[in-house]
Amino acid sequence: MELTANAKINLTLDILRRREDGYHDMRMVMQAVTLADILTVVPAQGAEGAAVSDLRFLPTGGKNLAQTAAAAFRDATGLGGQVDVSIQKRIPVCAGLAGGSADAAAVLRAMNRLTGAELSPLELSKIGERAGSDVPFCVLGGTALAEGRGEVLTPLPPLPPCHIVLCKPPFSVSTPQLFSRVNVRKIVRRPDTAGVVSALEAGDLTGVARRLYNVFEDVLEPRRQAEINEIKSLLIDCGALGASMSGSGPTVFGLFDREDRAQEALERLGESYRDVFLCAPAGKNKCSAV
Ligand code: ATP
Repeated sequence: MELTANAKINLTLDILRRREDGYHDMRMVMQAVTLADILTVVPAQGAEGAAVSDLRFLPTGGKNLAQTAAAAFRDATGLGGQVDVSIQKRIPVCAGLAGGSADAAAVLRAMNRLTGAELSPLELSKIGERAGSDVPFCVLGGTALAEGRGEVLTPLPPLPPCHIVLCKPPFSVSTPQLFSRVNVRKIVRRPDTAGVVSALEAGDLTGVARRLYNVFEDVLEPRRQAEINEIKSLLIDCGALGASMSGSGPTVFGLFDREDRAQEALERLGESYRDVFLCAPAGKNKCSAV
């Protein structure tokens, strides 16, 4: 079975509080995008399933999130055997685009069909929690408000059609380090999440784009923040309606209503960066055959 595993971007990212268990309560508007890995899932040849990809540095066994998800599915349902997963990796790794979670979610969708379990999208996304906090959203896809650690999902109206330019600068940001720098009580600026939800309900792309906001940007190291700001400025100069960093970064994205302007941004960013992509919003996933 062949599936696409869409990346996600954060239209907003807010941190509400640090919990007793050490995790943080988040509030994020998440959007699936058409930049995607391509997965093939087949019954395993050997006793243990493998996960191979075109990136040699990714884990190939149980530590690959694709296999973590397969194990979670077997544990939760008692159905399905070992599977071999091959991944054409298109989503940059450690980029704030939930690439690993997208692969995990795709494997859950595949196993749901291969075993005939036919779990509902919500049941499947619940199993996804075991593989990571972004997996439940990646199971559903489309547009959603994500709360709790990211696993409490409320589907939202789709982002109006637009062109999305993604640019991943060549450095990585440590998510635990970012969380450790956030002092929740001292967050001065927060996203207008309710405003973004209203703009989505009104089908107002400009209203969404001018409210993009990610609180992690404010705690980046100054030189990283400067680079992120430079990419955002270039996107805006080229005609983006808004630009922001996705997740814990470092990928920056811009939303465009005009394809020619998005194309120009892509070309200009391509002069300095290798990982630049032009994509579009992606809709909800089909989780089962029925
Ligand atoms: P998020 O946006 O959810 O924080 P990310 O984009 O920052 O995710 P990923 O690319 O999803 O980060 O994954 C990062 C880590 O997960 C890497 O250390 C990588 O080795 C490991 N990993 C395991 N399986 C996969 C997979 N199938 N694809 C990508 N990374 C994987």
